[in-house]
Amino acid sequence: MSNARPTKHSPAATPAVFFDRDGTLIEDRGHLRSPDEVVFYPATVAALRRLQPHFRLFIVTNQPGVSIGEVTMADVQRVNDHVVARLREAGIEIAAVYCCPHQRSEDCACIKPKPFFMEQAAHEHGVDLARSFTVGDHPHDVHLARNAGATGIFVLTGHGNKHLDELTADDIVAEDILEAADIIISRSTTPDHATTT
Ligand SMILES: [Mg+2]
Ligand SMILES: [Zn+2]
Repeated sequence: MSNARPTKHSPAATPAVFFDRDGTLIEDRGHLRSPDEVVFYPATVAALRRLQPHFRLFIVTNQPGVSIGEVTMADVQRVNDHVVARLREAGIEIAAVYCCPHQRSEDCACIKPKPFFMEQAAHEHGVDLARSFTVGDHPHDVHLARNAGATGIFVLTGHGNKHLDELTADDIVAEDILEAADIIISRSTTPDHATTT
């Protein structure tokens, strides 16, 4: 297993992709209580395989259902663990899953689009946010990238189509996670030797 941790021999900070969970990696079916309710998009594994050689992979999810009592944190944890385990079976390593359990009205520090969890990943996993991306089906997933100094990709799966008119002209839109992966690869073709500072 790859319990990857930065060591003093590791290279400089690595880029990462921060994925939204519902409507991006898996279908958005409301507040998920159980792994039985998880339905992966057909393109998810292929997209993550394409990105994994170049990026650390994270999940950042808002789960306000915890705060309003629709689901428990234990439910959310079970669902997240299932997502990570299924991806691991497909050879994909998720470095961490970050979850905000609050409602927006609570004004917590961690709810998207606040960059709290991306900054935590930068510290804990040596992520270079300036070379990192977010992928999600809500405008706050794109604003998250902007607030962290990264690049956001908006996908039209999940609630994406519904929110499309809330984007600005320079926001990057992809049909789904696979097209998002292609866009990310094409925008990050800088040779390694050119990235030293
Ligand atoms: Mg979503
Ligand atoms: Zn929060």
